Amino acid sequence: GMSTADSDSCDVFVIGGGPAGATAAALLARQGRRVVMAEKAHHPRFHIGESLLPANVELFDRLGVRERVERIGMAKWGAEFVSQEHGRSVRLGFGEGWDKKLTHAWQVRRSDLDEILFRHAAKEGATALEGCRVRDVVFDAEGATVQATLDDGSSRQWRARFVIDASGRDTFMANRLKSKLKNPRHNSSALFGHFRNAWRAEGMYEGYITIFWFKHGWFWYIPLADGTVSVGAVCWPYYLKSRDKPLKEFFADTIALSPELSERLKDAELVDDAVYATGNYSYSGTHCTGERYLMLGDAFAFIDPVFSSGVYLAMHSAFEGAELVATTLDQPSRAPAARRAFERYMRKGPKEFSWFIFRVTNPTMREFFMYPQNPFRVKEALMSLLAGDIHNGTPIWRSLRILKTIYYAVSAANPR
Ligand code: FAD
Repeated sequence: GMSTADSDSCDVFVIGGGPAGATAAALLARQGRRVVMAEKAHHPRFHIGESLLPANVELFDRLGVRERVERIGMAKWGAEFVSQEHGRSVRLGFGEGWDKKLTHAWQVRRSDLDEILFRHAAKEGATALEGCRVRDVVFDAEGATVQATLDDGSSRQWRARFVIDASGRDTFMANRLKSKLKNPRHNSSALFGHFRNAWRAEGMYEGYITIFWFKHGWFWYIPLADGTVSVGAVCWPYYLKSRDKPLKEFFADTIALSPELSERLKDAELVDDAVYATGNYSYSGTHCTGERYLMLGDAFAFIDPVFSSGVYLAMHSAFEGAELVATTLDQPSRAPAARRAFERYMRKGPKEFSWFIFRVTNPTMREFFMYPQNPFRVKEALMSLLAGDIHNGTPIWRSLRILKTIYYAVSAANPR
């Protein structure tokens, strides 16, 4: 039943305790604000999205969790692309990017990473609640009333001056506002599982992520620190619609479509005999801020995970979002301009990554990935993009513009 006696108040209420929510909660609590973060699950909880970008390392540093993440992670020094049609594979080290300091990242189990971030927010002073599902938020002139349902079915209510939606693909706020725009061009789904005894490369190549292109989409191959390898197939929608057998057999048949991947898995066995499926369609919202709220990470936008950008964009948006919250609460007269800047900022990352994601299936672009050249430093710039180096002012944009121009010129000369 509803117990109004439990009513509580805070400066900032955070919906969701994944990377975006936990990062924002930690930063705002560190500023001495009263922060409540509600997570409907209990950490450690499973989540897909295990490959991180070098640009994320600095964010872990600034949060104060870098060493803990390093301990659970498999060092990832680059990415390998394998193309059947080219009969070729290519390894691209992050050291080939523009900023030579962005050398590596890690592959992690998200249950481990997300728990580190969540507990860290509590250590910084946030009230971090698990088994607490936010069910309703009502805004008024002073702030918002937030209602949640706890595991035992009881209700709890808070007053908050500001609300952060970091509910991930649940898109709590965007659903309520009907502000979510699905991207019809990217409507794929993913099948995935974890393997024991899968092939591992030697030395610093061991932790490379490998992307295998195949005719119905692409595979990820992510070696984890415990010796297992996460393997997933991101497939175009028509292919999944063709499924006429159990998920596990369908996954095995799909893997068989890539001889190179099959070779790596020839002695491997599925952990727990388990194969998972998830919808993977892209979306973004019409807007990500209101007078008393903002949306971070996947709660605002999701793009195809081929470049492993999700956790980085989620955490970076939390750093920027925490600034916006501070401005709104402390200097309200500056809030409208700060909001406009944040709206622009939130579109930049997905836009830059998406341009390449939409075209990476195109033969011209695929050719560049498989035989990367560096005129006008375009390869370095692309490697920087793949490292997530998009917010640091590294001068990659001129080269990326040239790469786009070359792409359009070649495509026009070879219409298909
Ligand atoms: P989430 O991590 O989803 O966290 C949201 C949290 O909110 C969850 O814990 C959820 O339980 C909680 N929640 C939701 N609703 C409520 C509610 N009403 N009340 C309370 N709590 C609630 N990213 C990468 O960086 N690298 C990858 O290799 C990668 N691969 C991916 C592969 C696939 C198939 C998919 C689908 C995604 C992948 N991603 C990857 C993307 C990545 O998973 C997300 O971008 C990232 O998790 C976003 O973080 P977040 O904090 O915004 O959301």
